[in-house]
Amino acid sequence: MPPSNDPDWPNAIAHIDADCFFASCELVRRPELIGSPVCILSSQDACIVAKTYDAKAAGIKTGMPIWDAKKLMPHATYLSADFRFYGLISEKMFSILRRYSPDMEVYSIDEGFLDLNGTRLLWKKDYKGIAHDIRRAVEREVGITVSVGVSVTRILAKMASEYNKPNGVTIVPCSMIQLFLERTELSDITGIGRNREVMLHKCNIHTPVDFVNADVAIIKQTLGKAGTDLWHELRGTSVMGLELHAQTPKSVARTASMGEVTSNRKTIVSHLTRHTTRLATELVTKKLLTKRITIFLRMKEFNSVSAKTDFEYPTNNYFRLSHAVQKMVTELYQPDELYRACGIVAEKISKAEETQPDLFGHMKADAKQAGLLLTVDRINKRYGHESVKMAGAFSKPELGRNVRFNYPLIMAS
Ligand SMILES: [Mg+2]
Repeated sequence: MPPSNDPDWPNAIAHIDADCFFASCELVRRPELIGSPVCILSSQDACIVAKTYDAKAAGIKTGMPIWDAKKLMPHATYLSADFRFYGLISEKMFSILRRYSPDMEVYSIDEGFLDLNGTRLLWKKDYKGIAHDIRRAVEREVGITVSVGVSVTRILAKMASEYNKPNGVTIVPCSMIQLFLERTELSDITGIGRNREVMLHKCNIHTPVDFVNADVAIIKQTLGKAGTDLWHELRGTSVMGLELHAQTPKSVARTASMGEVTSNRKTIVSHLTRHTTRLATELVTKKLLTKRITIFLRMKEFNSVSAKTDFEYPTNNYFRLSHAVQKMVTELYQPDELYRACGIVAEKISKAEETQPDLFGHMKADAKQAGLLLTVDRINKRYGHESVKMAGAFSKPELGRNVRFNYPLIMAS
């Protein structure tokens, strides 16, 4: 749609962001938990990957090891993540968003952008009315709440959706940008992390208002092109369009500094687990599969070691990825080394729907197996350790017979 002549709305972009998405998904199928704190756990249940607002208020953070979280909130419900289910809820949400505008960017499993230009005529409503319609439709049809921000650029829309969470709507037309920026902080700007914030402080830029009033040359010198893009976007000039047609990427990576230099294996594994969770989620959301993953550990002196795993067939199965990562860490980790960063990279990416049909049998089995593992896990959590286990996982000789099946079989004890 062509942008309008309305001076307040030269362009209209909505950002829709589900509120504590993974936890909200669990509440959809476990309504008995609504109103009580819920935390979602990563593979091997090592750390928290999502939580409800009350768990957050108690101090539980994403990435926190479960034993720390349990100290803060022993009475919370801790559930294993079920990315297949979250993927289904996500698809449902995006199918609703697409009704409001065909020009949509799926940004992550629970966030998307819509180009709303021209939709006021179509819906005979202002953007606020449309935003509330979107919010109510998702809540009614999917059972989760979302927050919606509408503004004239991508960055402002994203900051607007964050402004009034959960279940809120924030509209920022051109004439309101200044007022909106006065109520936000540098750390609220998407793309300004801790490091960039420190660099900006050195240039005497302490708030978003300082940022937009600064000379663009200074921003360029400090943050480069990423900085000038932000500068224009925050001033209301759209320079970052929507990615409406996602290309198949060559690789998908999740890497980060650990924020400390450590030789602690648990810390490293916990960071890698979080990266793996995010990577798997991104693959599932974008319906992509990988045939090769590489992990790397960067040492204190900035040299790094890496290991790769090639899969027999393309996968985005979280357990498969996680299992490979655990194996590779064991291979790479040296207790007397100091590590500063780690990451995971998926390569040989293909689209799930373009993958050869004979591979689908394997992939279906993969998905089923993941579902089964989670069910077993849940039962064990409820009724005690090893009430139910996989037949392939017999480890105790006192069971007194050989394992005849190498496919998963539930045994109750
Ligand atoms: Mg969200």
